[in-house]
Amino acid sequence: MTISRRSFLGSSIALAGCGAASSHPTALPPAGTQPVIVATWSWGRTVCERAQQRLSAGASLLDAIETGINAVERDPNVRSVGVGGRPNAEGIVQLDAMMMVGSSLEAGSVCALERIATPISVARRVMERTRHVCLVGAGALEFARQMEFAEEELLTETSRTEWEAWRASGSPGFWRTPPGPPPTASARDHDTVGAIGIDGHGEVIVGLSTSGLEWKLPGRVGDSPIVGAGGYADAEVGAACATGVGEEVIRVAGSHSVVERMRAGMDPQEAVEDVLRFLRRRRGEQLGDAQVAMLAVRRDGVIGAACLRPGFELGMLAGGAVGGRAVAPLDA
Ligand code: ASP
Repeated sequence: MTISRRSFLGSSIALAGCGAASSHPTALPPAGTQPVIVATWSWGRTVCERAQQRLSAGASLLDAIETGINAVERDPNVRSVGVGGRPNAEGIVQLDAMMMVGSSLEAGSVCALERIATPISVARRVMERTRHVCLVGAGALEFARQMEFAEEELLTETSRTEWEAWRASGSPGFWRTPPGPPPTASARDHDTVGAIGIDGHGEVIVGLSTSGLEWKLPGRVGDSPIVGAGGYADAEVGAACATGVGEEVIRVAGSHSVVERMRAGMDPQEAVEDVLRFLRRRRGEQLGDAQVAMLAVRRDGVIGAACLRPGFELGMLAGGAVGGRAVAPLDA
């Protein structure tokens, strides 16, 4: 089922008593009292189901979101995250991930990490075990080894076959395309797992994990591990995350822009739509038919979701129930 903005808001089980933003920008809404999680794409439901199991067993929201994202990372049928993710132009799977805790603004991320199936967990260790925020490439892998993560081959036979076919096609690759009309990014090119949660006690967490854009140039980093672009969380306000063509999200500091709009008084739906409209206006034809989708959760559990192109969906945990929704593109 595809939903418009109005029906989406109407169906949100997280709306009780707080449907509209305060007219006073500094008057923050009260924190919600129940856990709410939203997560990107069809596997967002998996995230929510696993997270709910952990929360019911008494786990923290941070543990619950990590476990939910781990399940997607380990699923070889999700072709844009973790094991089975499509490789870069050299046939190597390079992963990006980020975790951010809204109460402390602590964050950890890894970029272009190879051979580790669960980069979200490495990102969490960067946050908790170092004074850094971001580790890249060989340094990130060495850190993961020190944290005793197991190394494994992430390229599945299916991904290898597809990559070989792409290479044999002689295509220079989407990301080497010279200046000119923007190329078409198909729906299968990408798709990050991104999850935002509130725990009902004032905590707000965001986590993302992705293999990024298929056949990307080696070393390319997308928006997902960039604090403020792919994800941002501030427990005073809420959190946001993004999926789609990361280069476009980075240009507008997408997730931070959404959170700051909420801080200024926009409700979450207005905030995600406003950032995507800004991106569309500023990028014009250069945006081509790129997909960008954004989710937001305010600290009281009100959610927002918007996308530029058809096909985006989300998973949601609210009111103790897990569900999923298709999201209609802007102005559809
Ligand atoms: N945003 C991710 C990236 O650019 C991919 C995606 O979410 O579709 O790496």
